[in-house]
Amino acid sequence: LLQLYAPLNFLGFVYREIKHSLADMEKMFTLMGQSAEVKDTDKAIVLATNSVSIHFKQVDFSYEANRQILHHVDFEIPAGKTVAVVGSSGAGKSTLSRLLYRFYDVSQGCITINGVDLRQLNQVSLRAHIGIVPQDTVLFNDNIYYNIAYGKPDATRDEVIQAAKSAHIYEFIQSLPEGFETLVGERGLKLSGGEKQRVAIARTILKNPPILIFDEATSALDSRTEKAIQAELKEISANRTTLIVAHRLSTVADADEILVMEQGLIIERGRHRDLLELGANYARMWQLQQGDEEIV
Ligand code: ADP
Ligand code: MG
Repeated sequence: LLQLYAPLNFLGFVYREIKHSLADMEKMFTLMGQSAEVKDTDKAIVLATNSVSIHFKQVDFSYEANRQILHHVDFEIPAGKTVAVVGSSGAGKSTLSRLLYRFYDVSQGCITINGVDLRQLNQVSLRAHIGIVPQDTVLFNDNIYYNIAYGKPDATRDEVIQAAKSAHIYEFIQSLPEGFETLVGERGLKLSGGEKQRVAIARTILKNPPILIFDEATSALDSRTEKAIQAELKEISANRTTLIVAHRLSTVADADEILVMEQGLIIERGRHRDLLELGANYARMWQLQQGDEEIV
């Protein structure tokens, strides 16, 4: 019995290891690599530019048949400008960022970058141009240094430290016994949602890409840290083409255009001032949040 038991135990170990590596691989693909959902065409165009304009043209999208998520979504982000998306949970905001990163292809319509359909672009080159701080950051099973430097593999240690400082995560890292060498991810130190967000922000600051996507990028932070990092994010997005999904409206008030989404439709759009004047959904959300701002 003992003889039988030992190999089984060993198999259990191997199984766990394989499961871990598969999880890593999946994350790799999800984060950066080629995703299974989309394929490069034979003559995929390699994107190589610093100035990027983005156009969602009448985009329809469904994850599954029979349940359409986006309906004729149409907007443009001129090079260097910022478009913000607000709206209740489930409205389709994160779906926009997933489509732009090309985790999925649109069902109808198209998304273009400098006039070229995303589906014609080489995926790796597209993703090299995008810095994304997603709603839920998944870290690699490696140390914190690797997780930040991933944004720019040839970065110097000084650059990594600077990025960590800008993302207000440096002091936290310094407080750990093993500092930057601390292992994180499933097998390492479990970071809080806010700490993971700051690692992702540091990675993006270091990467310094022409396209930025912030999907409720500071939602897990306390309001003081959030304010401090907002200033940082505003600076790095100044001349970059930026898509911001935000819950707190005060963070999008100076966007070049604000889209209000509901059930996959853009129901209102304009600048902060115009939307307040309109006195509809955005204005109502703004009113509601004024109370919150005073409490925090
Ligand atoms: P938001 O970011 O505005 O909260 P999402 O874009 O995440 O909304 O989701 C929009 C809708 O798409 C929701 O109804 C959600 O349940 C659905 N959805 C999101 N991801 C998937 C998925 N992977 N498969 C199927 N449905 C999904
Ligand atoms: Mg979302």
